[in-house]
Amino acid sequence: MRHFDLVIIGSGSGNTLPDERFADLDIAVVEHGVFGGTCLNVGCIPTKMFVYASDVAREVTDAARYGLDATLDKVRWPDIRDRVFNRIDPISEGGRRYRAAGEPNITLYSGHAEFTGPKRMSITFPDAAPEEITADRIVLAAGARPDIPTVIAESGAPYHTSDTIMRIDEVPDRMVIVGGGFIGAEFAHVFSALGSEVTIVTRGERLLRHLDGTVSERFTELARRRWDVRTNAPAVHCVDGGPGVRLELADGSEATGDVLLVATGRIPNGDLMNLPATGVATHPDGRVVVDDYQRTSVPGIYALGDVCSPYQLKHVANHEAKIVAYNLLHPDAPRRADHRFVPSAVFTAPQVASVGLTEEECRERGVRYVSAVQEYGSVAYGWAMEDTTGFCKVLADPSTGELLGAHIMGAQASTVIQPLIQAMSFGLPARRMAEGQYWIHPALPEVVENALLALPLD
Ligand SMILES: Cc1cc2nc3c(=O)[nH]c(=O)nc-3n(C[C@H](O)[C@H](O)[C@H](O)COP(=O)(O)OP(=O)(O)OC[C@H]3O[C@@H](n4cnc5c(N)ncnc54)[C@H](O)[C@@H]3O)c2cc1C
Repeated sequence: MRHFDLVIIGSGSGNTLPDERFADLDIAVVEHGVFGGTCLNVGCIPTKMFVYASDVAREVTDAARYGLDATLDKVRWPDIRDRVFNRIDPISEGGRRYRAAGEPNITLYSGHAEFTGPKRMSITFPDAAPEEITADRIVLAAGARPDIPTVIAESGAPYHTSDTIMRIDEVPDRMVIVGGGFIGAEFAHVFSALGSEVTIVTRGERLLRHLDGTVSERFTELARRRWDVRTNAPAVHCVDGGPGVRLELADGSEATGDVLLVATGRIPNGDLMNLPATGVATHPDGRVVVDDYQRTSVPGIYALGDVCSPYQLKHVANHEAKIVAYNLLHPDAPRRADHRFVPSAVFTAPQVASVGLTEEECRERGVRYVSAVQEYGSVAYGWAMEDTTGFCKVLADPSTGELLGAHIMGAQASTVIQPLIQAMSFGLPARRMAEGQYWIHPALPEVVENALLALPLD
């Protein structure tokens, strides 16, 4: 049985750990899927490449408001798809090859890791005998996978998830998306802009319902103009329409489409690793329990990213990977992960971005707050864009001006929000942020400046 100084399970963010500081350790990386993890292969990067093409398609179809009569002549889906994967697949394969042969101290196991005892695991391969290995230290970086509601899983009807939908051969005429979260909202934009009629089905009252109420209300309202949005309507029955699919919904209505995309959330992969065998504790929702230093309940076993994180975001997984790397090297003076102000964005249309508390969370927690909402249409760049729906909402402590949360819906929200993330991270109060620097005129961030100035602070 081979013994390692360090075993890393998962080649997503986990693969970023072993750099030159680890050169004198004997390390194994175990990966049972495509090398490089979710973000690179089936997550952030390919989706945003598709979203960009869809944004351009919408610019064309919406151009008349600027006095430009343009038509989208043709959507060459195979070219759109191949642009994405012809770039990504070689990166994944190059990463795999480098890991397999690049450094003498690292062994890549292309198999599935499952614990068989304390810090001992069996690795199973599709075409070779299993191998048992042990390690002094282990990093669980095993990510998460799409969660499929039983009603769909047991129906036998064909469905796609975010893992497969981007590789289909043609844009379907009609797509049903189950799930009103960020993955559903992004794919609804991608496919509707490229020509699909989209029906989006959610059991919640609104789309993006975990976001600030103003965002989720306004987004749902806009979504209803473009997509057939069924809220409060979980699927109760799913039928293989051969071809296509038919969903019966709890409100008695039906949703039919040529293709079904299931986007109802992602479950952490800890349950596939027999964690009890090594004593690692998990939360009831399956996430590995970690402390502020990314340490699990077992000394020497760390976890990072979606397998343990409530955020399920790549920038969080990357941050946690840096913390784990440091703490592996400095176990006696470890660093804490910083989860104070975790931002997120939804690359749908319009974009949505958010950081800090929502207004609802302020209320639930009894936090004193004031808020201000500034419309994109109130600043010159918003006029240039003919924007009528975008806005920036900020929440702050009325007495100190400390920013509590920021929520933006509109063009480039994911970029426009960055100064607010910075202000919150470095403790810059609202008034100082607004008045202590120049804001380029007439750029879009003026909407942030004006929202800050509009806060009714004490
Ligand atoms: C469609 C989609 C869009 C997204 N868009 C964004 C975005 O815009 N911005 C953002 O911040 N985040 C986004 N995310 C989330 C982001 O991709 C994840 O948060 C991030 O990739 C998680 O990284 P990780 O290292 O924790 O896990 P992963 O990258 O998933 O890596 C885990 C790896 O472990 C492997 N593995 C699991 N179990 C085992 C085992 N037992 N043995 C061996 N190998 C195993 C898996 O095959 C996988 O390769 C998106 C996700 C999806 C699905």
